[in-house]
Amino acid sequence: GLPEVPLPPVAARRASRRIQVGPVPVGGGAPVSVQSMTTTRTCDIGATLQQIAELTASGCEIVRVACPTQDDADALATIARKSQIPVIADIHFQPKYVFAAIEAGCAAVRVNPGNIKKFDDQVKEIAKAAGDHGTPIRIGVNAGSLDRRLLQKYGRATPEALVESALWEASLFEEHGFRDIKISVKHNDPVVMIEAYRRLAEQCDYPLHLGVTEAGPAFQGTIKSAVAFGALLSRGIGDTIRVSLSAPPVEEVKVGIQILQSLGLRQRRLEIVSCPSCGRAQVDVYKLAEEVTAGLDGMEVPLRVAVMGCVVNGPGEAREADLGVASGNGKGQIFVKGEVIKTVPESKIVETLIEEAMKIAAQMEKDGVAS
Ligand code: SF4
Repeated sequence: GLPEVPLPPVAARRASRRIQVGPVPVGGGAPVSVQSMTTTRTCDIGATLQQIAELTASGCEIVRVACPTQDDADALATIARKSQIPVIADIHFQPKYVFAAIEAGCAAVRVNPGNIKKFDDQVKEIAKAAGDHGTPIRIGVNAGSLDRRLLQKYGRATPEALVESALWEASLFEEHGFRDIKISVKHNDPVVMIEAYRRLAEQCDYPLHLGVTEAGPAFQGTIKSAVAFGALLSRGIGDTIRVSLSAPPVEEVKVGIQILQSLGLRQRRLEIVSCPSCGRAQVDVYKLAEEVTAGLDGMEVPLRVAVMGCVVNGPGEAREADLGVASGNGKGQIFVKGEVIKTVPESKIVETLIEEAMKIAAQMEKDGVAS
């Protein structure tokens, strides 16, 4: 076959400062990391650690926990110590919990300057404590809790207002020599959000945490996030992402990883290239694609499997993939690396594909292709 020519990266990444969220680097060309947030009560340490373990298993790299009460603050030290991935404490309203989270050894603290009373007066102490512990701060501006002054000035949470709020807070930290910062400017409308991050990216070199806030239930939230992150990441903007869904957090991680893989920002794992089917299809493509996907679930290597309903695009796509089937006349031509290796009856397509996929995967693992 032809030599493999690597595709160009989606875009040059914006040059940003690098911060360390525990062992995970964010910004400065580090791989874009995927975050989520627990939904358990943080003070329920067992349940929270259990959910963090599930998130870790699903590929989550940084986890955020809410901290609305003293009991939650008291739980942070144990959670931070026992979690397999870095823990960020999420603080609204109460500055005392910012200090508690830093003391507890959280990998970072998220503050919402819009709802912490007299936040500006406390920046000096926060910068001092965070600096002493090497704890980065995320300035997390949110359309729904924008600083009152800016709401009055702009009338609503415009991109300008979100950016001004974030950069104002960053400047207060900078006055104290503190620059261990990442920023988010979330909005529930992808159009506003994209514009806010685009402006922010031009006006500072802090690493950026992307998020569409309150994106909605899984279907809508997935699309909103994919569109917004795609628009930004394809221009090189964004250093870490959190998909917000009204769904279990593991779903957020899956969507986040898939977005990065789609953009070529992360090595693709299993990818099923299946046709939508049409009047020409000579097999049940949906069923075939579903069965192959289920049979190969959890595959760790970047395997591309083509499942095509007929001979129009079938052989072409099947040849481009590592492995594939082009169906016709109740039979399936099985391709491996561009060669037809066998033709099997329809009833044997799935098991043959899975069998061949396992062989290729084993070879890839041997060759060290898996990441
Ligand atoms: Fe239709 Fe064949 Fe294309 Fe599938 S591969 S969409 S069946 S023409």
